[in-house]
Amino acid sequence: MSAELRQLYQEVLIDHAKRPRNFREQGAGAVTVEGYNPLCGDRIRLYVSRDDGQLRDLSFTGSGCAISTASASMMTEALKGKTAAEAEALAERFHRLVTAAVDAAVDEEGLGKLAIFAGVREFPVRVKCATLAWHSLRSALHGDAAVVSTE
Ligand code: ZN
Repeated sequence: MSAELRQLYQEVLIDHAKRPRNFREQGAGAVTVEGYNPLCGDRIRLYVSRDDGQLRDLSFTGSGCAISTASASMMTEALKGKTAAEAEALAERFHRLVTAAVDAAVDEEGLGKLAIFAGVREFPVRVKCATLAWHSLRSALHGDAAVVSTE
C-alpha cells in the first residue's frame, strides 16, 4: 500500500470510528440483524429499511473496535439509495478487497472511500472486524439468520 493510502486509511478510519455516521436505531419496519465477531468481541445491530427495491435507510448500533465501527459507518453511507443487487455487488467487491493478497493491486473501481480498507489486508485478524457489517448486510438482504457470527 502506498504511503498516501496508508495515511488516508488512518485518518478516515479514526474519523468514522470516533464519530460513526448513521449510528442510531430504527423502528419497526426495518429489518434488524445482529452481527457478532467472537475473535475481537465486535457486536453490531444493523437496521435496513427498504422500499421499492431500494435501501432507503441503513443504520447501526453496538460496540466494537475502531475497524468494525468505521466499516459499519462507511457501509451505511455507501449503500443508502442503492438497490439490493447493487449492495450485493459492493459487498462482493469489498470482500475481495480485504481478502486479496497484501501485494495485489487494489481494484478501487466502484469502491470509493471504501478502498481504504485495503489496509486491513496487512492485519489478517482484522479482516473479520472489517467484514462484520457486510456479513450482517447480506443476511438482512436475504432474510436469513437474524444473528450473524463471523465464525
Ligand atoms: Zn474488531
